[in-house]
Amino acid sequence: MNTQAHPLAHQRVRFGTGLRHEVGAEMDLLGCARAIVLSTPQQSDMALDVAATLGDRAGGVFSGATMHTPIDVTEDALQHAVTVKADCIVAIGGGSTTGLGKALSFRMNIPHICVPTTYAGSEATPILGQTENGIKTTFSDPGILPSVVLYDPQLVTSLPADLTVTSALNAMAHAVEGLYAKDRNDETTRLAIQGLEDFNGSLTRVLEDPGSLAAREATLRGAWACGTVLGRVGMALHHKLCHTIGGSFDLPHAQTHAILLPHATAFNEAAVPDLLAPVAKIFGGDQSGMALWGFARDMGAPLALKEIGLEESDLDRAAEIATRNPYWNPREIDRAGIRALLQNAWSGDAPGTC
Ligand code: NAD
Repeated sequence: MNTQAHPLAHQRVRFGTGLRHEVGAEMDLLGCARAIVLSTPQQSDMALDVAATLGDRAGGVFSGATMHTPIDVTEDALQHAVTVKADCIVAIGGGSTTGLGKALSFRMNIPHICVPTTYAGSEATPILGQTENGIKTTFSDPGILPSVVLYDPQLVTSLPADLTVTSALNAMAHAVEGLYAKDRNDETTRLAIQGLEDFNGSLTRVLEDPGSLAAREATLRGAWACGTVLGRVGMALHHKLCHTIGGSFDLPHAQTHAILLPHATAFNEAAVPDLLAPVAKIFGGDQSGMALWGFARDMGAPLALKEIGLEESDLDRAAEIATRNPYWNPREIDRAGIRALLQNAWSGDAPGTC
């Protein structure tokens, strides 16, 4: 067991082109000798490339990571990791692979070196969501936070334009909700604004030139800032809607965030306009929800829940599920208001103040 695995609230974070090839050096620093390298099936080439740079310190590659960290997949990977006597986890991918890396590292109490390839931000949080028998549960523990994060802009150059945009909006949602979080502080507000500015300044450049390493690195810096906010403060309406509706109707994660963010922001703006004012300032105009909607539209994001598989006949049930369990939000949650919000988000209309 490596006692450096779970440094409370400590994480080593590096940004730089080619850093994926420095996993071995990070293993040396952690005192680790044998890694299991994780990815999704779609990203097995990236995992094999990193494993090749590790030589015989790569105990094996497990390319079975999938959305929402199903327990049975974690158990398969665990068996593999134990068989190859892994003393550290190397996870290369988006939130799905990071989730598997967190689950294994937590169960085995060994360090996790995370190499993110989307902007989801899971690498910056001590939160793990897992699924068993179709039910997702989430918990938080300082030991879940990866020990090392290596942001290599070359790895995000392959992110397709649609996922680039929706993943960026997924990250931005952490920052937007961080601005009005009940437990926010000056530092989380500063990070939230910085993350939003990073995406505003870099996303257009990335779409014009997907291979631009400077622009891609700026998006990764945004992802880190927004993810760090998610890890430090509590979220509210927007994340709750994505979690309950996304989970209940099996909607794709990043797209659901991208579509709902302007609407949830407009809903809460009615209660906390001053706290959300930085969003309008960064994205233009004088209304934060509208500013985000315009930004999402200009970036080519999907705008309507009907585009990603939700039926109009599902909206009543969606509103019921989303308001079933009370939780803190800066504006009181009422079923009629949420039903109206969802109608707008379903049609793809501009957000109203409901
Ligand atoms: P993902 O990891 O599922 O990736 C989506 C698809 O894109 C996959 O097929 C993946 O292989 C592919 N992909 C990823 N990076 C790529 C790249 N650079 N080039 C080409 N293809 C690439 O999606 P995600 O949105 O990053 O993560 C979603 C998951 O993360 C959800 O399960 C969500 O709940 C979780 N999440 C957890 C936290 C947390 O703090 N616990 C935070 C955010 C997201």
